[in-house]
Amino acid sequence: LFAGETTFVKGVVAMDGLPPPDRMEVCFAGRSNVGKSTLINALTGMKALARASNTPGRTQEINFFTAGEEHYLVDLPGYGYANAPLPVVEKWQRLLKQYLSGRQTLRRAFVLIDARHGVKKVDNEIMSLLDSSAVTFQVVLTKADKVKEAEREKILTQVKDALSKHPAAYPEIVVTSSEKGWGIPTLRAII
Ligand code: GDP
Repeated sequence: LFAGETTFVKGVVAMDGLPPPDRMEVCFAGRSNVGKSTLINALTGMKALARASNTPGRTQEINFFTAGEEHYLVDLPGYGYANAPLPVVEKWQRLLKQYLSGRQTLRRAFVLIDARHGVKKVDNEIMSLLDSSAVTFQVVLTKADKVKEAEREKILTQVKDALSKHPAAYPEIVVTSSEKGWGIPTLRAII
């Protein structure tokens, strides 16, 4: 899957800017600072690839990367900015809804959850949007190296409980640490 070179294709701010739906894609969603850029970099083995999408001004774009010739990896903007102006949030939510419900080549969403924090209200909102858009999603626990095993088990139970309320949720949770490389081969295989 990642044998070919991973490259940044484009940042999209409106539906008419989407690349043609000519290959399968998966998307990554998560609260800002969850470790999404770091995870995408670890998955693709390319340092600082997703960093470009993390710079101010790019944060409200849907960023497309190629993974080999056959897939797109799609980096959705981080959500949960407390101080983003309402019109910006509304515009972003509109685009997100349109993308999730209208993108035929979207095969799965990965919802990233910080292993220290568990599922928060905004995560539940995104999961509900995925339910109503009929997009199967899978939770990826990030920064697992930051918590002790007992804490991790507690968070996993909380996440499983949250997932039981979402019909579009795939039950298996992928535990990762981009720092340590944990779960990265598993996630690559799933993609
Ligand atoms: P994003 O806003 O979701 O793209 O988050 P970033 O990828 O920029 O990561 C936010 C912060 O968490 C950065 O300081 C990263 O170095 C750190 N981080 C990301 N992944 C890991 C991880 O697996 N383990 C640890 N310990 N820190 C991480």
